[in-house]
This record gives sequence, structure tokens and C-alpha cells, in this order.
Amino acid sequence: MSATKIIHSVPSDPLTGSISVPVYQTSTFIQEAPGVNKGYDYARTNNPTRKVLEDVVAQLEEGHSGFAFATGLAAIDAVLKLLSAGDEIIAVDDIYGGAYRLFTHVYEKLGIDVNYVDTTDVSNVANAVSKRTKIIWIESPTNPTLKVSDIQKIAIIAHSVGALLVVDNTFASPIAQQPIKLGADIVIHSGTKYIGGHSDLVAGLVVTKTAELAEKLKFIQNASGGVLGPWDCFLTIRGIETLELRFKKQSENAFAVAAFLKQHPAIDEVFYPGLSSHKNHDVAKRQQNELYGGIVSFALKEDTEAAANSFVTSTEYFKLAESLGGIKSLLCHPPQMTHASIPREKRLQSGIRDSLVRLSCGIEDVQDLIYDVSQALNTVSSLKEVLVKV
Ligand SMILES: *Cc1c(COP(=O)(O)O)cnc(C)c1O
Repeated sequence: MSATKIIHSVPSDPLTGSISVPVYQTSTFIQEAPGVNKGYDYARTNNPTRKVLEDVVAQLEEGHSGFAFATGLAAIDAVLKLLSAGDEIIAVDDIYGGAYRLFTHVYEKLGIDVNYVDTTDVSNVANAVSKRTKIIWIESPTNPTLKVSDIQKIAIIAHSVGALLVVDNTFASPIAQQPIKLGADIVIHSGTKYIGGHSDLVAGLVVTKTAELAEKLKFIQNASGGVLGPWDCFLTIRGIETLELRFKKQSENAFAVAAFLKQHPAIDEVFYPGLSSHKNHDVAKRQQNELYGGIVSFALKEDTEAAANSFVTSTEYFKLAESLGGIKSLLCHPPQMTHASIPREKRLQSGIRDSLVRLSCGIEDVQDLIYDVSQALNTVSSLKEVLVKV
């Protein structure tokens, strides 16, 4: 979507001409007579500030309707409520940890089965679907090893058994990838990440392809009530106004950092879908508008937690914190942080090695980010050995 379209998808206020979106900090709306109102009656059901955000996000993803929730997980939770006991989900195997926790510890208990497969190989998905499959749930790229799945092909498989394809588009953002245009039925976002973009809020978003799904989601949103408050809606809208600028700059920075890491003697493996060495590069290139996002992961030659600790505590600009996608660069060590709840064996199976570090590149000057990564790598002991030998 073009920058112009994004900027002008945010309306000025028709009542006052206010160029920015007003924050309607209210719980209720006065009625002229019972049931006679101006389209708003109670703020869980609808709020004018939230309505602007929901309409803008629907346009960003070129879907029918958008819905704003208190967090990304509340958005995921709302979509899962489309299901009934006995239904089955086919999910990407290295799914976001919070989604895994919700699927396994909340929904499996309620009679919903989840079958995890490696969706980067489309034949695994084709072999896994059954008549009970109601949702295929993918993330592309995934966290933290940035695996990419072919959305168009998986949509065809989902529809062949009457299932919905849900895509968690958090890592690509609608700037790189619009899953509904590729055949997905529902798109979800953690608005906390690129869409908010400033590490100053938590939010979740859902966009549906059809009016029919929109009606169901609207019902669930109002019935369960996990809505986003008006102030956070305002901040999310303000974030969206610069999303295109930020995401392109972050992608540029990450590409340069990934290329630097790739040739560095202390590095064993770099995960970045923009690199031609990445396993799913061809799909990523076709599907992501040649934009690969701000996240780069890597593993060290000295594949230990101690080496990773040395790196993550030595950076100046990359701040050690969970979360990603903001203007300020962050980094984390998934085995001890975001993915600590996954047993080590399982982590290793999905490529999350002991020394794996995830960088989220912000919008700083690229030479400063490369300098920072380079000086932090100098603290890793294996590099010292390499340099001595040279
Ligand atoms: C962070 C994240 C979520 C959860 O979002 P919250 O806003 O933290 O609840 C879901 N999916 C992905 C891919 C994420 O990165």
C-alpha cells in the first residue's frame, strides 16, 4: 500500500475539522430515546476512536473489516472462539510462544485439537488436513528463525477442505505482505510490534476478508470484551501514519546488518529471509514485496549460552529487552527469554541453538548498528582466538 494511501486512510474529524483523530475517552453515549442514538451506545460495543483504527487497519490489509483488541493474544483468542469442541487446527510448528501456550493450555482443554507441522513444506500441510480441520494457522516469517511459508499455496489447501487460513502477519507487516490478497481469510497482528512501532503500547488487530466473518468477529469482540482503549487506539493510529517509512528503514538496516554478520568470522549461521542463503528466500522474495523486515537472528561459532550472554550484554544501541519492531533497536536471547518455556530439545529441533541471538533493528543510522554489532562480537572469546590466528 502506498504511503499516500496510508496517510490519507486516517480521516480528519468531520465534526470539528481536527486534523488528528480525537480521543473519545468515554464509557457511554447519550441516547435521544431508548435505542435511538448516533451509532454509538456503549464503549465496549463501539467507540469512535477505535472505529477509525479498525477502518484504517482494514484498509491496510485490504480486507472487509478490522477489529482492535487489548493485546495481540486477545486478538488471537477472539479468532479461536470461532471454533467448537471437536474442531482441529493445523498450526505452524515454530509458532509464537504465547499462541502455543493459549492453544495448548486453554483451547486443547476445551476440546480443540492442534496439530503442529512444518508449513514451510506445503506437502506437510496437504498431508495433515482432515475433515475436522477448521483453521490452518501460520506465521510468516516466524520467530526467531524467520521461516517463510507459501501463503497462496496453503490457502488453496485450506479451502479444499473448507477450512479458514489465518495468517499472523506481525513479522511482515502489511507493508511487506498482505495475506488476504494471497488468499488468507483472516489476518492478525500484534499491534505492539511494527504497527504501533514505538514500544509504547500493547495492542492486537484482526482483519477479516468477508462480511460474514466480520459479523462473527464483531459478535465475539462485544461478547468477550477484550477491546483496545481509546488512548491506545489513538497511539496505534499515530504509529500507522509512519509505518511505511519505519518498516522500509528497518528492513534496509536489517539487510545491511545481516550481510555484515554473514561474512563475520565469529558467526556460524545467519537467519534473514532477504539473504539468498536463506532456505525460503525464493518464497520470501515473491511474497514479501522484496522487504524482509527488521529482525535478524544469528548463531555464534562458539555455540554457548555464555558466548551469547557476552554479546547481548555488550551492545550500546541494541537494548536487551523482549519485543520487537520499534524505532529503537532491541535484542534478546530467545533460549533464556522469549523461548525459555520450550524444552531445550524442542528448541534445538526448531533451530533455536544455545547461542541464538535475535536482533530487532530500529531506525538508527546503519553504520552505528553495524559498529555496535561488531564491537559486541569482539567480546565473544572465539573471535579473539580467530583474530589471534589471523
Ligand atoms: C508479540 C506477538 C504476538 C502477541 O502479541 P501481544 O501484543 O504481545 O499479545 C503474537 N504473534 C506474534 C508473531 C508476536 O510477535
